[in-house]
Amino acid sequence: MMKSIFLQTYGCQMNERDSEEVLGMLTAQGYEVADAPERADVILLNTCSVREHAEERAFGKMGELSVLKRERPGLVLGIIGCMAKLHQERIFKRLPAVDLIAGPAELYDLPYLLAEIQEKRQRDGLKTQDSRLMAVNRPFRPLDAKPNGDYRKPGVAAFVTIMEGCDKACTYCIVPKTRGQEISRPAEEIIREINALAASGYQEVTLLGQNVNSYGKRFPDGSGYKGPLGRLRLLEEQPETLLDFPYLLRLIDRRTSVPRVRFTTSHPFDAHQRLFEAMRECRSVCEWLHLPVQSGSNRILRAMRRGYTRETYLDKIAQLRKLIPEISLSTDIIVGFPGETEDDFRQTTSLMREVEYDNAYIFKYSPRPGTDAAAREDDVPREVKEERNQALLALQDEISFTRHRRFEGRTVEALIEGPGKREGQLFGRTRGNHGVILDGPASSVGMALSVRVTRATAHTLFGERCPA
Ligand code: SAM
Ligand code: SF4
Repeated sequence: MMKSIFLQTYGCQMNERDSEEVLGMLTAQGYEVADAPERADVILLNTCSVREHAEERAFGKMGELSVLKRERPGLVLGIIGCMAKLHQERIFKRLPAVDLIAGPAELYDLPYLLAEIQEKRQRDGLKTQDSRLMAVNRPFRPLDAKPNGDYRKPGVAAFVTIMEGCDKACTYCIVPKTRGQEISRPAEEIIREINALAASGYQEVTLLGQNVNSYGKRFPDGSGYKGPLGRLRLLEEQPETLLDFPYLLRLIDRRTSVPRVRFTTSHPFDAHQRLFEAMRECRSVCEWLHLPVQSGSNRILRAMRRGYTRETYLDKIAQLRKLIPEISLSTDIIVGFPGETEDDFRQTTSLMREVEYDNAYIFKYSPRPGTDAAAREDDVPREVKEERNQALLALQDEISFTRHRRFEGRTVEALIEGPGKREGQLFGRTRGNHGVILDGPASSVGMALSVRVTRATAHTLFGERCPA
């Protein structure tokens, strides 16, 4: 009998793409995708540990789903992804109905793990405790051992994972612990995947990694430039052999036909002139860079172990703007990091005013167990974090509004991603990643239209299609 799977995703774009891969592997094994947990034989939550709030949502959801098992003891419940790796055994204690725990490095094992649970149940009966499995020990995902099968959400834009894990050690961040060591996918595989996406009609790809700028450091076969010094040495001695991120962008631009390429996330420490030049010279690479700064205060940046200062960050932005004046910039900022004073916070607001980001994601600091920052007192009171969060959201709205208004009266290229919220409306994105709303027929989805911007708000551009 055909089995069905329901998968719910929390967290970042990498998790979204991981979930597509999991569905691909399982549908290749004969599973059907269920549209509701009540109709599934296997329910998986692909989880996020970056902030406590995301974890609590997933714990709460799995608690609700556990009730389904009373009526259907044959149901399999799994927690996969970052929470699995971080909490391991504790998940079984808090949620006794859970059958499977598998970390991000073990996602390619899922078809085998689920088959093993079935076998155990056939042999030993349906008691959860007897058939439970936990897989969390791999140091990194074996990218060269991916089972067959892939799945994509239908649409105009697709995610392409180019690397896994993270070798940085930002003191607040749980990701190196949950996602393991950095490992890059071979360039040929990436090119093949993008060509297949372009052939099936996708118009845009976003290359994904925790720090795409260190692409090429380590490949599954053990090759790679190994580290920043290794990269610099190759750049000086044998530049033609260096396969790093800027070179990957050039390969994609030359050897695939996808019209738009984006990438995220870039760590400022590893973003440099060679990247900016590749961005300028590759026609397909969009004029958009997400460059998380986290704080404008050098004292806090040092305590976060980010590896750059406010001044070096601003220099990089100036270098980039000199090469690509129309670049659109976005960032991530954490407010309320331990020890953040009013003066530190003012430096963040002044940096935001100086850079004038097109968009910013603001997060309230959340202590993560086992990180270096969690050893420090979480001493910024909750109300102060909330106030600073609101103040930065308001400041960004003001800046975004000014940035958006520069488009009024201008013509932009909008790739139409789907219908807008209202009947007869379309939603698209500019190359700079600004959302655009215009009137038009559904048949325009997937087209890159010339749109004259008539009005701008802090969050959206409104426009009309230019006559062909
Ligand atoms: N690798 C990316 C980078 O270095 O910018 C980002 C990865 S992280 C999943 C996404 C964002 O979450 C970070 O840029 C940071 O702003 C935020 N974040 C990470 N840990 C956090 C924490 N403990 N509390 C609040 N925000 C956090
Ligand atoms: Fe976390 Fe820093 Fe790695 Fe980004 S670069 S995933 S913030 S440790």
